[in-house]
Amino acid sequence: MKRIENSPQLSSVIDLIDDLIFYKDKHFKYIGCNAAFLNFIGKKTEELIGKDDFELFDDNLASQFRKHDKLMLAEGNVRSNEEWVTYPNNKRVYLLTKKIPFVYDGTNTGILGISRDITSLEKANQKLQEQTLLDELTRVKNRKAYNLKIKSLLAVYERYQTSFSIISIDIDDFKDINDNFGHDVGDTVLRNFGALLESNIRETDHLFRIGGEEFVILSESKTKVDAIKLAEKLRHIVASTALLSEINITISLGICEVTMGDSPNSIAKRVDNLLYEAKSHGKNKVTYHSMS
Ligand code: GH3
Ligand code: MG
Ligand code: MG
Repeated sequence: MKRIENSPQLSSVIDLIDDLIFYKDKHFKYIGCNAAFLNFIGKKTEELIGKDDFELFDDNLASQFRKHDKLMLAEGNVRSNEEWVTYPNNKRVYLLTKKIPFVYDGTNTGILGISRDITSLEKANQKLQEQTLLDELTRVKNRKAYNLKIKSLLAVYERYQTSFSIISIDIDDFKDINDNFGHDVGDTVLRNFGALLESNIRETDHLFRIGGEEFVILSESKTKVDAIKLAEKLRHIVASTALLSEINITISLGICEVTMGDSPNSIAKRVDNLLYEAKSHGKNKVTYHSMS
């Protein structure tokens, strides 16, 4: 194996490093690596040397590596990237990789790469990120998550006309629950209410708590007719389920489907008006067009 280092001591040090170190020639063929790299890809030195990524891995993975090799060589400078990588043994890891040009045999430029497995750090980061999108009390997604989701649904809708519906939900006379049973009981009712809704919707229905006792469902690829069915089902389930012993609540719901030119604000205005109508027409109702 060709060595970029020229002393046995340095070679032993490189083998002691946990990061994955590898080097390739100008034809993207491996000319060397450290012990951690061999161990990681589950191959022996002789299986690696003289081969390129397309001979070692599947096309997707090899293309992923080749793309960064080429970009780095084109820039002629150190290049970092972070990405999920799935190895042939189905090992899925998040790697931070740095690649730099590496001169060998005096005149040729190859690629020297160092990858660090930062999977656990990335998972912890993702978890933290998810936490910022969850409502603390109910563990349902929060208003911030709602704002992000409606923006992305609107962007996809404008481009591909993939319709979606919005179901706005407000608990009827919730103030009475607090007044009669106390705020802590009110909190438990809200938690149970969130869980009840969550367990009665599908993966393509996204539930958010956007205010005190106000929730919204964004229903992907649902027409208004389908959304009305879901809303009626939820209204019925909520009215007939005790959320805590002897505590029953009802909900009012407003429904609309996205239309061209909509913005998060125009949608909010429309469903708010519908909700207001449901309230003024006696509550425990689903409203989807003006009743007046
Ligand atoms: P309506 O049928 O018109 O919606 O009447 P309502 O009493 O539900 O509406 P209103 O908006 O007047 O009151 C909402 C109540 O929800 C008042 C507020 O104290 C309560 N609330 C909001 N957030 C929380 C919370 O996090 N925990 C508890 N326990 N109560 C909350
Ligand atoms: Mg309210
Ligand atoms: Mg209310």
